[in-house]
Amino acid sequence: MTDLAELIGVLDAAYPPRLAESWDSVGLVCGDPAQEVSKVLFAVDATAAVVDEAIAWGAQALVVHHPLLLRGVDTVAASTPKGALLHRLIRSDCALFSAHTNADSADPGVSDALAAAVGLTVTGPLDPKPVAPMDKWVIQVPQTHTAALMSALFAAGAGAIGDYREAAWYTAGTGQFLPVDGANPAIGAVGTVETVTEDAVEVVAAPSARTAVLAALRAAHPYEEPAYHVTERAPLPSSLGIGRIGELAEPETLREFTARVGNGLPRTVWGVRAAGDPDRTIKRVAVCGGAGDSYLGAAIRAGVDAYLTSDLRHHPVDEHLRRGGPALIDAAHWATEFPWCAQAESVVTRALPALTTRVSTLRTDPWTVTG
Ligand SMILES: [Zn+2]
Repeated sequence: MTDLAELIGVLDAAYPPRLAESWDSVGLVCGDPAQEVSKVLFAVDATAAVVDEAIAWGAQALVVHHPLLLRGVDTVAASTPKGALLHRLIRSDCALFSAHTNADSADPGVSDALAAAVGLTVTGPLDPKPVAPMDKWVIQVPQTHTAALMSALFAAGAGAIGDYREAAWYTAGTGQFLPVDGANPAIGAVGTVETVTEDAVEVVAAPSARTAVLAALRAAHPYEEPAYHVTERAPLPSSLGIGRIGELAEPETLREFTARVGNGLPRTVWGVRAAGDPDRTIKRVAVCGGAGDSYLGAAIRAGVDAYLTSDLRHHPVDEHLRRGGPALIDAAHWATEFPWCAQAESVVTRALPALTTRVSTLRTDPWTVTG
């Protein structure tokens, strides 16, 4: 027996809510975490047709990419379009959950699924998020107190690197000081230069532990004025972030790559269109599921041959090409995110194999006709 809370736990582990952009709204929209779940439907959008499918199939949870309620909400009255959907979901005991920009930035995330769908091998994010900030502390301490100091630092949270604890590096040297009037030195005397065999102890710690580490350092150090310094590590790129950069196994023309994208993604009325020389050689490609025009600059900086995303507009594309940027491939927004549904489904089935799951094949792309 699986409850909704377990399903949420699995989805939150794969798509951590902390990765969501500040303007976003992700997670549980309706549903009781204690309710039992046996059938889960996945889709990009909670449209009326998708909700119909979830209820008709008897799903207890609908997992979508796009938040149903993103802007401020004053009412979920059944007389409003979104309120009507929520009423129907709640009456049918079907929860609604969304993983949006947290699923974009996760590894693997939305753009990994997109890259795989068009035959790209991912090398990293297009716009990497920095790894968590880290402080490095260097503390000089008389060798008689090195072990006690390190124990105190570790107890305050220092020395944790990944799955390792009590990590430190120290080396011996000679410390020197001249106590002056007012000093109460633990070693030596006022007016006399003192030299002491000391260790320089280096440990890392999270910036959030600064107060605790400093307090531990002062408590465990024998000196009235311990010598130490702390520096913040430069922000290094992580494997998390929006968009992905990937490579084709063999180079091909923009014309061929555009056809590959058309074949790799589900068909839409919008189709797939490209901007740039059709005979341009394409090997390295940036992709961003959903509306990716704010990453045009990142695609130029990445030095890729092409950038695949959606919702591109005339002027940004024109300006981009004038700057000599990579070729642009514009697919339907829904089509670029649809491959994520299968990824999210596999995340759930791997962790909760007793659940019955299904990806909705309803095309929730709003465009219906071409002229
Ligand atoms: Zn989207």
